Amino acid sequence: MAETRHAKVLVLGGGVGGYVAALRAAQLGLDTVLVEGERLGGTCLIRGCIPSKAMIHAAGRFADIADGNALGIGIAVPPTLDLAKTVAWKDGIVDRLSNGVAGLLSRAKVPIVEGWAVFSDAKTCTVATGDGRITLTAEHVILSAGSEPVALPMLPFGSDIISSTETLNLATLPKHLAVVGAGYIGLELGIAFRKLGSDVTIIEMADRILPRYDAQLARPVRRWLDRHKVTLHLGAKVVGRDAEGRLAIDTAKGDRLVIAADKILVTVGRRPRTEGWGLAALGVDRDGPFVKVDDQCRTAMRNVWAIGDLVGEPMLAHKASAQGAMVAEIIAGERRHFDPASVAAVCFTEPEIVSAGMSPDDAKAAGEDALVASFPFSASGRALTLEAGDDGGFVRIVARKSDQRVLGIQAVGSGVAELAGEFAHALAMGAVLDDIAGTIHVHPTLGEALGEAALVALGRGLHI
Ligand SMILES: Cc1cc2nc3c(=O)[nH]c(=O)nc-3n(C[C@H](O)[C@H](O)[C@H](O)COP(=O)(O)OP(=O)(O)OC[C@H]3O[C@@H](n4cnc5c(N)ncnc54)[C@H](O)[C@@H]3O)c2cc1C
Repeated sequence: MAETRHAKVLVLGGGVGGYVAALRAAQLGLDTVLVEGERLGGTCLIRGCIPSKAMIHAAGRFADIADGNALGIGIAVPPTLDLAKTVAWKDGIVDRLSNGVAGLLSRAKVPIVEGWAVFSDAKTCTVATGDGRITLTAEHVILSAGSEPVALPMLPFGSDIISSTETLNLATLPKHLAVVGAGYIGLELGIAFRKLGSDVTIIEMADRILPRYDAQLARPVRRWLDRHKVTLHLGAKVVGRDAEGRLAIDTAKGDRLVIAADKILVTVGRRPRTEGWGLAALGVDRDGPFVKVDDQCRTAMRNVWAIGDLVGEPMLAHKASAQGAMVAEIIAGERRHFDPASVAAVCFTEPEIVSAGMSPDDAKAAGEDALVASFPFSASGRALTLEAGDDGGFVRIVARKSDQRVLGIQAVGSGVAELAGEFAHALAMGAVLDDIAGTIHVHPTLGEALGEAALVALGRGLHI
């Protein structure tokens, strides 16, 4: 007979949304159980943020050694690459973090049920575990089933047509990598493999790279691609593969082109994981492909909550975690709602891009009378000492004219990902320009450029 367990809170999915929800619920004294079908850590820790950033770091190290530089530092022999060893190093980080999550849940006394859950009604699921079937019931259910890569019908995944997951586990370097889709995942991985020595061709249907970011922010990345001989086909459509297995595309001009690549990475987006686990039995509403939630992550079904990639854009790890913690707090009786204003997005491209809050275009679309000011890294002492002054990077602030309230902050430049926290903080605190301009930024750091951009916005720029 199947074992039956009851908990106050049942969390579906041990990704960054689900495990943080479970930890916070346990911290608040709620009897919580978590179900995970694969590995703790989910997309982010196992096949997303962490492994991609590990491989990007390794690629950067390789390129630093391989490329000539103006610093008078060189090596006599070209560097070698053992990609299998690089991947093993990356796997070590993934294992350490996944085991770390298991340790945190164990310390918080959250039982983990290992197996795939299938729901039969809103508060009941059955999990086929290695030790038999377990039926779980709960007062509150938090759905955090995450997302999966979207495949193209003419390029189904398999063999040498791969998603980001397989790309992060390649044992040998592809001589020629074709990347279909120039969003952040395609560009991050395409750039990393270019740095490692692959020829890279990127095919994008839109007329520019990173279509979700404004053209000004994407420009320095485009420049890097051009300088490093990455072939770009913008406004191009994938047709399929020809008889010899080559990738056939129709270019923007309407010409048919075939590309002989040994691996084809398809990164045309991700979709919420809504199939195969009985979502229909839960009686929740949908919002397009996503599960529909309000600003407290409540679904249409009482005491069924949904968070993370399952509920929509932005599909980002820190959004999932923030929603997870918030839901646990609401269940415990706290008054909370989710404010996406300070969810920054980062592209770990070359150079990096950070975008928090409204871009100038967003502000315009929202009817804001905004002022926009920027400060270039070419005028930053720190950027110059990091060889990052000439990549076209800058920090940009968007503020409301009437009360100088900061509406958005963006940056592009080498190493700017680490500024994301300060940008998000300013937005979360409802900063005005004077708050940022009046903050004494450490010299010499890249963060000074934010203070300077605020001064420029106030008409008091000092270093430009
Ligand atoms: C290559 C790549 C790079 C990325 N880089 C970044 C980045 O730099 N920064 C960033 O913020 N985001 C990044 N992301 C996105 C980020 O990984 C996701 O936004 C985040 O993982 C979403 O968390 P989640 O908890 O909603 O879902 P997931 O992390 O996908 O977790 C869902 C979990 O639920 C489990 N599950 C699903 N259904 C069931 C079931 N029926 N039974 C049991 N278990 C189930 C799955 O096995 C999975 O472990 C990246 C993604 C990819 C693919």
